[in-house]
Amino acid sequence: MGKINLLDSSLSNMIAAGEVIERPSSVIKELVENSIDASATMIEVALYDGGRRNIIVSDNGEGMDRRDAQLALKRHATSKISTEFDLFRIKTLGFRGEALPSIASVSRFHMLTSDGQSVGSEISAFEDEIECHDASSKQGTTITVAELFYNTPARLKYLKSDYIENASSLEVMARLALAHPSIAFSFTIDEKLQFKTTGRGQQLEAILNIYGAMSATNMLPITFVCPDFKISGYLGKPDIAKSNRYYIVTLLNGRSVFMPKVQTAIIEAYRDFLAPVRFPFVVLNFEIEPALVDVNVHPSKREIRFSKEEALRQVLLDLIPTILSGTPLLAAAPLNKEGLNRNERSIVDEPQSLLETEVAYGQYSFDEIAQSQNIKPSLVFQAIGQMHGTYIVAVDEHGGFVLVDQHAAAERINYEKFKHLASINEYIISPIVPLIIDMKPSEDALVTPERLAVLKQTGVLLEPFGIHSYKVVEIPIWAKEFDERQYVEQLLDDVLHQDKFDPLKIRDEAIAMKSCKRSLKANQRLSIGEMQALIDKLLTCQHPYTCPHGRPTIVSFSKYDLEKMFKRTGF
Ligand code: ADP
Ligand code: MG
Repeated sequence: MGKINLLDSSLSNMIAAGEVIERPSSVIKELVENSIDASATMIEVALYDGGRRNIIVSDNGEGMDRRDAQLALKRHATSKISTEFDLFRIKTLGFRGEALPSIASVSRFHMLTSDGQSVGSEISAFEDEIECHDASSKQGTTITVAELFYNTPARLKYLKSDYIENASSLEVMARLALAHPSIAFSFTIDEKLQFKTTGRGQQLEAILNIYGAMSATNMLPITFVCPDFKISGYLGKPDIAKSNRYYIVTLLNGRSVFMPKVQTAIIEAYRDFLAPVRFPFVVLNFEIEPALVDVNVHPSKREIRFSKEEALRQVLLDLIPTILSGTPLLAAAPLNKEGLNRNERSIVDEPQSLLETEVAYGQYSFDEIAQSQNIKPSLVFQAIGQMHGTYIVAVDEHGGFVLVDQHAAAERINYEKFKHLASINEYIISPIVPLIIDMKPSEDALVTPERLAVLKQTGVLLEPFGIHSYKVVEIPIWAKEFDERQYVEQLLDDVLHQDKFDPLKIRDEAIAMKSCKRSLKANQRLSIGEMQALIDKLLTCQHPYTCPHGRPTIVSFSKYDLEKMFKRTGF
């Protein structure tokens, strides 16, 4: 007896669903992309119970006639490619003819559609049964996906809390709306409006509609044209930098995609403008000849590759710092290398000292050295100079020397100072200037009573203030030491994006971040007196040898190390 069976269609659809439909947000993405492909100018999406109960996507697009409506639920039924040749010039978003049958195989699927010419169709699909009835002939399509994954318990179990699923759906919706500013989107979760875009064609307006005024007013436009690609969009000013990468939105030929290399380039290009571990908020559109793009890397089409990636990377590395530093930009002009990378040049221009080459030898941490040589670290250092305006050179009393990273040292000092202030002074005040925090809708979805309570325990009391905004009603008095807004935003970031609910820990993390912001920067000249004061202060800290993020503050070279390097030992 042969052992090979042909899978029946419902089983093969379920397998395909496993690849494309991971969670409610993937359903939204597929359905909305279909609406976009059908030239809709208005798309409404509603979500209930995190998308487990109902996902409704309604559009005013071309709709389908009876034959198409029935065919649409068959696997590999697509109106978007008919020959192999078409595969190489795909411009529409969907093209595999897999989404609808996949979704229908793992849900109770209901569709109302009409092309506006003939009588409309109402189609219900449930467990391989497809029913079709006449319906209104109003042009457009409304799809309702109910009880997602009811028949695939493993998938269902894998779904996260409503808050997390909602946040993912909002992320997807925000990206779709940013990619299509000419379409009026509205998105509600459990009847609560998350955002509504006007569809007037301006991406900046979509940014305003979705993220609020604080974001939209802090964006710098960017444009660049060359034969291989076009870049347009907005660069968030460093002031609105974020503590995660979710705000790096890259759209390729109108599709939100993850381009790992390009994302890294964007982060790198912002490096000199942002504090460590802050990430830019950007919305960038790339237009590239479709033939150069390989979207078939993954069935969800989220990650892509293309052949001119390296060239694009270089352009971003040059262009972004130029715009951020306020240099007037000549669109499409060949970039003048002399005008760029100022910071790098100033370092190269400095005379190379002997010490500089030495540094490359050993990177032992102070603790390691103390341990391995079993000597008590010397606690008396004398500052003798500074390298790169960044590292303080100091000699110790045993004939060795240390390099102190002045930024890391100042971070440690500030961190311990603020932590101390926070622990001895719990006094709460109202912010001096009214403080309103605008939230991204997907983050607002993460604001739960539980998280608000954790915030309250750190001394920050928030009250809802309009759509996606909160008013800071109470704040600890010592937070005045920082920029109060940034401190609250930092706290929020920590509370919303981690599932740690230890208020003290969250407060300390926020303090660590703020200490870093407030600290002495690299590239800052200090007098010998200032250097000495910094070292002395550092050594009074509880944990002087690392910064609050765990990086070393001091690297030490003992007399023994020096002798070894100059081959003066072992004779
Ligand atoms: P694909 O988008 O890859 O073609 P789908 O399974 O997503 O595959 O959709 C199958 C077909 O159903 C599409 O090619 C399109 O012709 C039709 N269709 C799906 N959604 C809509 C819609 N909202 N409006 C009009 N036609 C649609
Ligand atoms: Mg599709």
